Amino acid sequence: MTPSPRSKSIQRYSEIRPDIAPTLAFFEKLWNLQDSFAQEALDWTPPENDKIEEALASGRIVFAMSAPSIPVAPLRSALRAVADLLAEEGGLPLEQSDALKAADFESTVTDEMVQDVLKGIDSFVSLMYARLSKEAGAAPLSTYSFIVTTAITPFISAGATKALKPLKEFDWTRWSSGLCPVCGTPASFGRVLDKGNLQGGVRMLSCPLCRAEWIFARLRCARCGERTPESLEYLFDQEDPGHRIHTCKTCNGYLKVSFEKELDFALDPMVEEVVMLALDAVAAERGLSPLGDDEEQSAN
Ligand SMILES: [Zn+2]
Ligand SMILES: [Zn+2]
Repeated sequence: MTPSPRSKSIQRYSEIRPDIAPTLAFFEKLWNLQDSFAQEALDWTPPENDKIEEALASGRIVFAMSAPSIPVAPLRSALRAVADLLAEEGGLPLEQSDALKAADFESTVTDEMVQDVLKGIDSFVSLMYARLSKEAGAAPLSTYSFIVTTAITPFISAGATKALKPLKEFDWTRWSSGLCPVCGTPASFGRVLDKGNLQGGVRMLSCPLCRAEWIFARLRCARCGERTPESLEYLFDQEDPGHRIHTCKTCNGYLKVSFEKELDFALDPMVEEVVMLALDAVAAERGLSPLGDDEEQSAN
């Protein structure tokens, strides 16, 4: 069996960056877990291409028109499996690991909540958190938020790919947003592809939830849309020019971006995000926040 681009990338980084090898090994387990649940995703037919293009051009996301249904029992099992992996290998304080083991997703996650989850993941997480036992509540809300988003991805990512795949000719300046065109989640990462003679290459943003990727201007803030060159900057370490933070003075937001040309191998967005985890601290030191000053933005 030929190794997937993802495992090749993990292998390569584990060799050149032994410091992050354990973190990558943990995430690889998490991704394998997601892959195993993907088989239980329900089949879904996206809206017609022209309907999708029309929606995007008027600023609406695909899932606002039609979204895949998430199967309740498999989602509960996925929540349990992700929580177990995090409790056992996530390096959490003991009290938090115990809390995750005590979390009863069977009774706290209702059919109704699952039905509405794509309309608002934050409200799903808050509701679930409020219903957890006192013992299970010893882990912070942000940890449960991570568990929920990780558990949802395998049930929607194939649908997201299916929705965007036929849009090859779509002019992405008509969407031109840092929010995912499929599910509305803010992009968590960008990669600049080396397209040879195209000046500087194309930047693709990627969604941490549904894994969709879309084209976005290279010299534009993915958070507030700022285009003034004086406000934008690519920060990077001279020793590692392939991994950069794209910062914006207007909104104080930033986005982590990998450059294929400097790294000279195929970039896997999920692996790249883990490789660049340490850059969040660098950005925070400069007073930047991932989504910028307007953290409330949404596409719904
Ligand atoms: Zn998305
Ligand atoms: Zn900005």
